[in-house]
Amino acid sequence: MDKRDYYEVLGVSKDASDAEIKSAFRKLAKKYHPDVCKEADAEQKFKEIQEAYEVLGDENKRKQYDQFGHAAFEQGAGGYGGAGGFGGFGGFDASGFDFGDIFDNIFGGGFGGSSRSTAQQGSDRLMRVRLTFEEAVFGCEKEIKLEVNEECDECDGHGGTGEETCSECHGSGTITSEQRTLFGTFMSKTTCKKCGGKGKTYKNRCSNCKGSGRIIKNKVITVNVPEGVDTGNRLRISGKGEAGINGGPNGDLYLEFVVEKHEYYNRDGDDIYLKVPINITEAVLGTKKEIPTLFGNVVLTIPEGTNTGDKQRIKGKGINKGDMYIIMDVRIPKKISRDQKKLFEELEDTELDDTVIRDFDKFTEKNDR
Ligand SMILES: [Zn+2]
Ligand SMILES: [Zn+2]
Repeated sequence: MDKRDYYEVLGVSKDASDAEIKSAFRKLAKKYHPDVCKEADAEQKFKEIQEAYEVLGDENKRKQYDQFGHAAFEQGAGGYGGAGGFGGFGGFDASGFDFGDIFDNIFGGGFGGSSRSTAQQGSDRLMRVRLTFEEAVFGCEKEIKLEVNEECDECDGHGGTGEETCSECHGSGTITSEQRTLFGTFMSKTTCKKCGGKGKTYKNRCSNCKGSGRIIKNKVITVNVPEGVDTGNRLRISGKGEAGINGGPNGDLYLEFVVEKHEYYNRDGDDIYLKVPINITEAVLGTKKEIPTLFGNVVLTIPEGTNTGDKQRIKGKGINKGDMYIIMDVRIPKKISRDQKKLFEELEDTELDDTVIRDFDKFTEKNDR
């Protein structure tokens, strides 16, 4: 039988607010409650309403339903059949007081329990992945080791073999107990502890997963890291998060990159900065110098009179068509030969003119007065 659309069941629009959904559910649940409604298919309708509300009344489940439709809960839907023994509300005293309160009372607790057997999306995972500078710049294939919580192969996730109907709840997955209140006696439902709400138990407990139905597996997946990623960037790997529950879709895996520093290159977004050391004669006389870029070496003209901190741009040699900036670093020798010293002393006697030095000397003079 094709299931009706949950929004249609509750008679609300797809963009209905939480309050609208709740109110629609209350009205319909009152109308079709099997103890009140004498229509032949009241129980069926009531179940349908309850099922629709269980999904649309829950923010996460509603999101999943909007995304995947009934498929999001298909496997778990089997659980509804078991939990559907609403005829068991025989002790329900319908007379004389506001339904709303009772519904909150009964269903408020009951929903939490029965959601165990509905399909739920697995959680997302976040993993930090270290990349070398080059791996980040050029992209790479990266092997990622993962611990994945998956369905046990041995028992297909059942936790055992030799399926039997749970002796405690007789297959319904829920335990109905009588509750006496000021307003009368009614029944409340809790998830069966023996079978965890599945309605089934197994004669032979699976030794592989120790009955849990799930095992932790070490897996290696290969991920294509796109070129140009930077520290803090995230890559979403669909369906590689935690396994879904009761047939729900898996969560997603997010890889967050941490890019190692390069010995020479500094990165600022898509631009690359490179400090280039030159000696004092290169700085004074100018030169042509080979510069290592990400895309091979290029020859750069360094003009005469270059100072430390002078900057040159090499267009397009950054990341993702960004630029490369060359920052000059004039190295003053710590040790020079006797001949070199003589040359510097000769130079000292000449008038070396520099506007920055001249201006600074003027300031010093003024400051002395
Ligand atoms: Zn049970
Ligand atoms: Zn197993």
